[in-house]
Amino acid sequence: MKPSILVINCGSSSLKFALTDPATGETHLSGLAEKLGLPDAGISFRHGDSKHSQRLEEGNHRGAMHAIIQQLQHLALFDSVAAVGHRIVHGGEHFTESTLIDNDVIAGIEACSRLAPLHNPGHLLGIRSAIESFPGLPQAAVFDTAFHQTLPERAYRYALPIELYRDHAVRRYGFHGTSYRYVSEAAAEWLGKPLADTALICAHLGNGASAAAVLGGKSVDTTMGLTPLEGLVMGSRSGDIDPGLFGYLGTCMGLDTQGVTDLLNKQSGLLGLSGLSNDCRELEEAAAKGHAGARLALEIFAYRLAKYISALMVPLGRLDALVFTGGIGENSATIRARVIELLGFMGFALDSESNERTIRGKAGRITREGSVPAIVINTNEEDMIARDTARLAGLTSH
Ligand code: ADP
Repeated sequence: MKPSILVINCGSSSLKFALTDPATGETHLSGLAEKLGLPDAGISFRHGDSKHSQRLEEGNHRGAMHAIIQQLQHLALFDSVAAVGHRIVHGGEHFTESTLIDNDVIAGIEACSRLAPLHNPGHLLGIRSAIESFPGLPQAAVFDTAFHQTLPERAYRYALPIELYRDHAVRRYGFHGTSYRYVSEAAAEWLGKPLADTALICAHLGNGASAAAVLGGKSVDTTMGLTPLEGLVMGSRSGDIDPGLFGYLGTCMGLDTQGVTDLLNKQSGLLGLSGLSNDCRELEEAAAKGHAGARLALEIFAYRLAKYISALMVPLGRLDALVFTGGIGENSATIRARVIELLGFMGFALDSESNERTIRGKAGRITREGSVPAIVINTNEEDMIARDTARLAGLTSH
C-alpha cells in the first residue's frame, strides 16, 4: 500500500482533513467536521464521487478524529497513513520553515497563540488529538507565516517605537505562505525557468485575500501584516484603514477596541461595502442586475488590489508573471479583467477570451502573447502540506 499523508486544518470549531498521496497529489478521502463544541456537531466525508455526513457522538476534536479513523478503517485506508501534517496559521518569528512536531514545537505554537488567538489554540487541539489517535506516527507543522520570514526588515517593520517590536513581537508577518510557495513553484514551471530566477507577484484571493512579491522563490513583501486584517479588501475584512478610526469610533459610537476589531473583521470588506454579501460570486450576480452596492464593492476590491500589485513592483524591480489564485483569483474573470485593465501601464494586455475560459479548475495565461504574462494557477495548500510532511518524515527526498 502506498504511503499517504493525513493533512489536518483545524479551527476552534472545525476540522478539515484530506488523505493525500504526496507523490501524485491525489486525494483519497477528504472531509470537514463542523460545529465542534456544539450539540449538533457533525462530519462529512468525500470519497471519490460519493459523499456522506453523520452526526458526531462525541462532538469535539477528539470525536471528529475518531470518526475519521473509523472511516479510514472502513475504507481499508488506515494502514496507508504514514504521517500527519498540520496547517498552522501563525508561527511568529520562531518558525521559518515546516518542522516535525515535538514538545518544543508545541510550546512554540502555544507561544504564538497571542498573535493568532482565533487560530493557534484550535490547531493545538488538532495536534493533541492527532497525536493521541496516531501514536508513533510522525506529525509535522506547516506554517502560513513561515514563507514570509524572508521579508527584509524594511518590509516587515512598522514605523512604531522599537519597543513594540522588541518586547511585543509587533511586526508584519504575512499569511497564505503555503499557497504562495505552491503557486510560485508552479509558476516557475509554467515559465520554464528555475524558481531562483523568477520575479513574481502572486495574489491569493479567497475569503481572506493578500498579495505577495516573490523574488527567486523567496517572499520579499506582502500585504498582510501582524494579523490577516491588513492590506487588500476581503470578504468581510476591511484591509487597510486609518488606525485613527479606533479613537474616532470610540468617541462617536462608543465602541471599544474589541468592538472596532470585530467590525473590521466581520462586517466590512465586500460585505460592508455592498450591504449584501461577502461572497464575490453572489456580488457579481447582483451587480449584473444593477445592485449599486455590489458594483461599488467589486470596483473597490479590484482597485485596491491593482494599487497593491503595482506597489509590490518596488521590491521586485522586474516582473516575469502576475499569478492569480484562490477562489476569486481562480474563478472571477470579472475581477481579473478589471485588475489587468487598471495595470495596463505595467505591460499587461488582457486576452478576454482566455480570461473568460480560465475558470473552474482551468489554469493558464490570461494576457496576450507578447504582453506581460498574467496566469491563473489553482493553489493546493493540502498538497504542499503533504509534500512537506512526507519529506520531513523521511518518506520522500524532496
Ligand atoms: P477561502 O478563503 O474560504 O478558502 P476560497 O478560496 O474558496 O475561500 O474563495 C471563496 C471566494 O471565491 C468567494 O468570494 C466566492 O464567491 C469566490 N468564487 C468562487 N467561485 C466563483 C466564481 N465562479 N465567480 C466569482 N467568484 C467566485
